[in-house]
Amino acid sequence: MNVADSEVVMSILSENGFEHTKDIKEAGLILLNTCSIRENAEQRIRGRLKAIGHLKKKDSSILIGLIGCMAERLKERVLDEEHLVDMVAGPDAYRSLPSLIGEAGSGHKAINVLLSREETYADISPVRMDKNGITSFVSIMRGCNNMCSYCVVPYVRGAERSRDPGSILREVEDLRTKGYREVTLLGQNVDSYRWNADGQTTTFPYLLERVALTDPLIRIRFSTSHPKDMSDELLRKMSEHPNICKHIHLPAQSGSSRILNLMNREYTREWYMDRISAIRSIIPGCSVSTDIITGFCTETEEDHMETLSLMEWAGYDFAYMFKYSERPGTRAARKYDDDVPEETKTRRLNEIISLQNKLSSRSKKQDVGRIFEVLIEDFSKRSKDHLSGRTSQNKVVVFPGNGSRKGEYVNVKIESSTSATLLGKII
Ligand code: SAH
Ligand code: SF4
Repeated sequence: MNVADSEVVMSILSENGFEHTKDIKEAGLILLNTCSIRENAEQRIRGRLKAIGHLKKKDSSILIGLIGCMAERLKERVLDEEHLVDMVAGPDAYRSLPSLIGEAGSGHKAINVLLSREETYADISPVRMDKNGITSFVSIMRGCNNMCSYCVVPYVRGAERSRDPGSILREVEDLRTKGYREVTLLGQNVDSYRWNADGQTTTFPYLLERVALTDPLIRIRFSTSHPKDMSDELLRKMSEHPNICKHIHLPAQSGSSRILNLMNREYTREWYMDRISAIRSIIPGCSVSTDIITGFCTETEEDHMETLSLMEWAGYDFAYMFKYSERPGTRAARKYDDDVPEETKTRRLNEIISLQNKLSSRSKKQDVGRIFEVLIEDFSKRSKDHLSGRTSQNKVVVFPGNGSRKGEYVNVKIESSTSATLLGKII
């Protein structure tokens, strides 16, 4: 999401005469796009600010801006706490960056952290920052209305708003003509995408289908689905279109219905399991990944065991796993004690990670001997003789090049697997 936002910022700035440099020592303006989701994300940014401080000491005309979620969360406090920062812009204020930069350049600290109910940057054609020229992100909505009790997103990114489907389709078409072969549609809860115009409502399954019909050679992915909203209709559309990738990221957060209730996730363990069963029956061979938060307020050993058993039952192919990090202002911070000791959080997280390692390696071993269509994205990191790409199920495959080039689809027979990668050969 932040990469997509940085691309919008680059586009706004380049239209206003700024140029991007890869060498920070050349820069007259340094913008840090920030995340607030966990405390350590913010600590990393404070560390980064210290690291770039020496550049400003050498040349005081360099301007430094903090943009994105941390800017929105801390507002004026950023300017008090971080003296190096000249300007602050929240996620809905990027159009005002040129004027904020002008103000900061004339010696006044500048700030715009207004959130908007309408801003989707729909008309801005992002300057692509991805390296491979094959895979890209398209933002289809902004903000979130869900109010999960642990989460800062609704406070820092504002209310949910969907983007005009016409502008989404135009952006996909533009990517296609530039040679891109894969598009990931992004939103905090894509299943609640909704656009009303001329008495007609465009829902996410319908949008997904329209994007898929743009070109059968373009792969479509999306993230993130919310278990409370993920419909069978969406799954049917995925199964009907070969170019919609057979992978769903379905964050469970916890396997305990009691904890899910405290998290305000609006589903139970049973509901979540029913959604996984629906994926398995409607899209056989679909991979599933998840997010897990361990050590949420009041989490007991039994709750933790329920998370482990859900993971085992679902057999996730991949997971992002986090310790609960209390975020100021959220409902959990206001109403519940962050009462699971740090050592317990660490131990539970380690148990979750080691179970997931086992599940991921099992899932890769099951692929050995099978043939997958792979979209070639680049050379492999280790050698120019090998190529790297992904299966529809989002698994990375490395194989000898044999004259094939990035952007092409090849059939690869899997011969073995390492902890993170499938290894095979083109057939
Ligand atoms: N909208 C998406 C993801 C949002 S943030 C969704 O609902 O799934 C990505 C992930 O960060 C979340 O799924 C959650 O697992 C994690 N996360 C969010 N807030 C957190 C917190 N306070 N502490 C630890 N992890 C958190
Ligand atoms: Fe946060 Fe929940 Fe919204 Fe995801 S759905 S962004 S976790 S509030």
